[in-house]
Amino acid sequence: MKSIKSVYKIGNGPSSSHTVGPYRAAKFIKDKYPDAYSCRVTLYGSLACTGRGHGTERAIRSCLPGAEVFFDRETTDLPHPNTMLFEVKRNNASLVNHIIESVGGGSILIDGRATDDETEVYPQKNLAEVLETCRKRNIGLAQFIRESEGESLTGHLREVWSEMCDAVRRGLSARGILPGGLELERKAGLLYERRCYNESADVAMNRTIAAYAYAVSEENADGHIVVTAPTCGSCGVLPAVMYYMRFDRGFPEDEILDALAVAAMIGNVIRTNASISGAECGCQAEIGSACSMTAGGLAALNGLNIDQIEYAAEIAMEHNLGLTCDPVKGLVQIPCIERNAVAAMRAISSVTLSRFLYSTRRISFDEVVATMYRTGRDMDEKYRETSHGGLARIYHDHSSC
Ligand code: SF4
Repeated sequence: MKSIKSVYKIGNGPSSSHTVGPYRAAKFIKDKYPDAYSCRVTLYGSLACTGRGHGTERAIRSCLPGAEVFFDRETTDLPHPNTMLFEVKRNNASLVNHIIESVGGGSILIDGRATDDETEVYPQKNLAEVLETCRKRNIGLAQFIRESEGESLTGHLREVWSEMCDAVRRGLSARGILPGGLELERKAGLLYERRCYNESADVAMNRTIAAYAYAVSEENADGHIVVTAPTCGSCGVLPAVMYYMRFDRGFPEDEILDALAVAAMIGNVIRTNASISGAECGCQAEIGSACSMTAGGLAALNGLNIDQIEYAAEIAMEHNLGLTCDPVKGLVQIPCIERNAVAAMRAISSVTLSRFLYSTRRISFDEVVATMYRTGRDMDEKYRETSHGGLARIYHDHSSC
């Protein structure tokens, strides 16, 4: 498996596969062909269907201002549902083409090959092998990750954590309407301040964590800087819970960084053996993965053992199975923002169950990841980030009545 570092990418929202990935593709072209005088980009599959709402054109042009961008919704024989063709004309009149796939979480494949930052670090292929190594060496999961990744990990996680915290704070203080035409009002600040009379501790915790998740997801919907965790669409789940644990519960920052490392390992296993792309496997691959990562990280933060960590991550994924991706108007707003808040609360419930019931479990984490992948491949294309089904379809029908 690859380094966990690339699970967390810092970039502009609202979609890792539709903005961060295309931006990185455009940057590759810009760096490789400084003598290019024209560039034509064709977007296929989900990028063609929801790229306009997701801001794909804007992301490409922010790096290649003169690029012509076309949307091809007809071609179906694609290497990945998020495929781009870059046709570059150079000053010496030569023409070069690159097929670039945006495979989820901002990662790209250039002509079928991974980029240099996606280095292989782990000989283990799944979570069972990772945990078996931990058991043999009698070490915890966070320690195993730190030893495998080397010294640069801590600096990377600190930067990631700092960006996550900034996104929560900015989102809590921002007000106004989100862009894109749905006229959705930002709600994070409202939720954060709306304390009920006689509010119980449980309700206060859920409201506060939901406010943090809204804050980050609204920042993402506004195209601001967020961290993929593991994607932009699902970027609010993990920071919401970790921010609450750090600043409302007082967990030390070093322990939060370890929890982020464990969460990233969960995401790493999922992207290796299944997918974190809504265009490939629906929202179960994005929000389901974020919920699973958060549950695993939170279990580690609470000092639970590796079986409990695995079970927490498994529960969180299992109960997101079948979740479709149907963003209204192709924006990352409905159902995405609210879904981040719900997933954050679900991650906490998963840890509660795993704490007490881990010895009774029947399904392994790796089995549920394989199930998610198969379910995603069976899912009709209209539920895989095309905005052709589900809420996106119903909303369209209502609005045209
Ligand atoms: S519905 Fe889920 S997968 Fe689809 S854009 Fe929203 S967060 Fe991403």
